[in-house]
Amino acid sequence: MDLGIKGKTAIVCASSKGLGRGCAEALAEAGVNLVLNARTEGPLLETAEHIRSTYGVTVTSVACDITTKEGREQVLAEAPSPDILVNNAGGPPPGMWSDWDESDFEAALQANMITPIMLIKAVLPGMIERKWGRVVNITSQSVKAPIPVLGLSNSARAGLTGYVAGTSRQVAEHGVNINNLLPGIHATDRAVALDGGVSKAQGISVEQARKNREATIPTRRYGTSAEFGATCAFLCSQHAGFIVGQNILHDGGGVNATL
Ligand code: NAP
Repeated sequence: MDLGIKGKTAIVCASSKGLGRGCAEALAEAGVNLVLNARTEGPLLETAEHIRSTYGVTVTSVACDITTKEGREQVLAEAPSPDILVNNAGGPPPGMWSDWDESDFEAALQANMITPIMLIKAVLPGMIERKWGRVVNITSQSVKAPIPVLGLSNSARAGLTGYVAGTSRQVAEHGVNINNLLPGIHATDRAVALDGGVSKAQGISVEQARKNREATIPTRRYGTSAEFGATCAFLCSQHAGFIVGQNILHDGGGVNATL
């Protein structure tokens, strides 16, 4: 399927690895020029070069922390008025409700709520003026079905979800579509790290920890970044113009709900 977005420009945040990289690759395959971002320069440059040489699109990389004001300014300086924005950043640490104080909530809200909102606010005027734009926020299945140990994430992502629900409906008449893509368990570095944690806590091998987690998903396997990226690219395509303010699970059926 031709996604109809060849030649457009996208900012893909937190994209040297994992789900962000999956989104970047799928957009590049559709002919989209990219601004990539991550904090660590080495892997970011490698990813940028791989995408450039594989897909023949223009790729700029900005090594910075996207959750800071300075980081956002650096990324926006490379593409002040992109056609597509994919919001992403690392998730907050797990814990118990009693572990977190005010500064932990401030950090989580900054990373997973305020950062994407500020980036959306920065790119909307150009999208509205050109009568076309796509924003996809990578959030989590925990927005639909809370994961108790991820209280910081549950809180911050719920805030972003509320903002998107209203804002997406204010800008849809201008051809600008904002949606959230909710990953379940995917085979990224983060999933490997979580398997390692479970292995240590339960005294089982990392392989067994993975098998146990895979057994909780109806597909009986983890998702891939490529599958996730393809869904993201579709949401950024010409064909997704009637999809507004949705929260789309990409979880192998992991969230057990009828709606
Ligand atoms: P990942 O494999 O660990 O990749 C994270 C990417 O983001 C890396 O490129 C990393 O590079 C970059 N990054 C992290 N923090 C950043 C920051 N502050 N500024 C700029 N770049 C940053 O993670 P992932 O599995 O793709 O997860 C992506 C998001 O989806 C996270 O918010 C995660 O909580 C959420 N999620 C993931 C899953 C899953 O199963 N994978 C499930 C639910 C939700 P640097 O470290 O070099 O900055």
